[in-house]
Amino acid sequence: MESASHGNQPTEGTAPATVELVELRERISWLVRLRWLAIGSVIVTVWVTPRIFRVHLEVYPLYGVAGGLAVYNSLLWLVGRRLAAVSGAPVVTGFANSQIALDLIALTALLHFAGGIENPFVCYFVFHIVIASILLSRAATYLQASLAIALLSAMGTLEATGSIPHYPLLGFMDSGLYRRPVYVLGTLFATGTMLYISAFMATSITSRLRRREAEIVQLSAALQARADDLSQAYEALRRLEGARSDYLNRVAHHLRSPLATVERMLAVIAEGRTGEVPEKSMEMLDRARARLQEVLDLARDLLVLSRAREVRRLADRQPVDLSALARSVVNDFAQSLSTGAGEVSLLVSVPDSDVQVVGNTDSLVELLENLLSNAIKYSRPGGTVSVSLARTGDRVVLAVADQGIGIPPEDKARIFDEFYRATNAKESGKEGTGLGLTIVKAIADAHGAQVAVESEQGRGTTFRVSFPAAP
Ligand code: ADP
Repeated sequence: MESASHGNQPTEGTAPATVELVELRERISWLVRLRWLAIGSVIVTVWVTPRIFRVHLEVYPLYGVAGGLAVYNSLLWLVGRRLAAVSGAPVVTGFANSQIALDLIALTALLHFAGGIENPFVCYFVFHIVIASILLSRAATYLQASLAIALLSAMGTLEATGSIPHYPLLGFMDSGLYRRPVYVLGTLFATGTMLYISAFMATSITSRLRRREAEIVQLSAALQARADDLSQAYEALRRLEGARSDYLNRVAHHLRSPLATVERMLAVIAEGRTGEVPEKSMEMLDRARARLQEVLDLARDLLVLSRAREVRRLADRQPVDLSALARSVVNDFAQSLSTGAGEVSLLVSVPDSDVQVVGNTDSLVELLENLLSNAIKYSRPGGTVSVSLARTGDRVVLAVADQGIGIPPEDKARIFDEFYRATNAKESGKEGTGLGLTIVKAIADAHGAQVAVESEQGRGTTFRVSFPAAP
């Protein structure tokens, strides 16, 4: 029996578990299941035909063949299970080939005990050829078709010549046609051409399907490789980002305490506690302190940012009542405003009841403080800043709106970038590190929230942060 592999199966000795091989194993077990169905049908047909159609059948030999089929199907099932675990392509295709050959022999035996070549079920050989085309290579399918014709010819000839007995289908066809050479040859010719044509048609279709299958397998392997590359690149980026943020964190940390000490010393000098400071020196001192404050702000923002990026990893997440949090943050700001310039009015509109999100309280306070301080900073004297909170469906939306300088359309896309400041903000003379919104975005990301901004230059800006509501 030929055991050539079909399609692009590997040759002996190569790794067994190709996609084609796995498919072939599955189809073999499908064939075993199909055979149980065929055995059942044979038994029912043999039982029914003499009783209902009054056709004489050699019942016991036919049951015997059905029994033989059942025995070898059980064995094939057992062998198939072992084979699935160990064997490579040539063994599995050889196994499939042997099964189909056995089936052809079984069908010939069934036909022999039921009228031989006169039995109209001769055409059932075609099913085996279709199955062969699904399981095997094109060449193997033609070989199986040839085996079927050889078996049929042998049976027809041996019965016609009286070398083996003929079991007529009495009651259906008892005309002795099996002995007439014209009938035997005609049937063999018709069946033979039918089998070869079926082999041709079925293998054409299945080989095209196999080619497609192979293309899909190749494509999905290529896609998988891309996905692996991407996830590796993503991992590398994440590591890099982690290292960068660690580095910034450390630098900021180390800068902060000496700078704070310097600032305290300068404050002591500025307050005149070390002796009177000449006016000119005082001016220089004030400028030095202002610049120092900028560096301190930067160090603080860098620390806050790296903390914000860690929130995702922090375990201390809990339900947070955003309305209470918003009221408290706005209150603190209102107090500092009333003691300071007092030119910007603060409005707060949050529900009295709890509006909960799951998160980290300190980070959420930082998020709101950043939005609020920006809104106040970029407001014009006499402007109003409002903070509102609303629950819509399964989202909680926190909005901070101002009537300030607004954001130029060309800068809008970049305001969340690190250190980015819009041109009008820089020109306004208001100091800033350009890290506030980066912090806001990092905290929002860590909470599964989205930040949206609406702004009209010269008229005002609204930031909306949409959180998933706590369940
Ligand atoms: P900064 O320290 O400069 O305020 P942020 O990261 O907080 O940095 O904001 C980035 C930029 O976004 C600001 O420089 C400013 O151009 C713009 N921006 C943020 N909030 C507002 C606002 N409420 N009104 C106008 N512009 C804003």
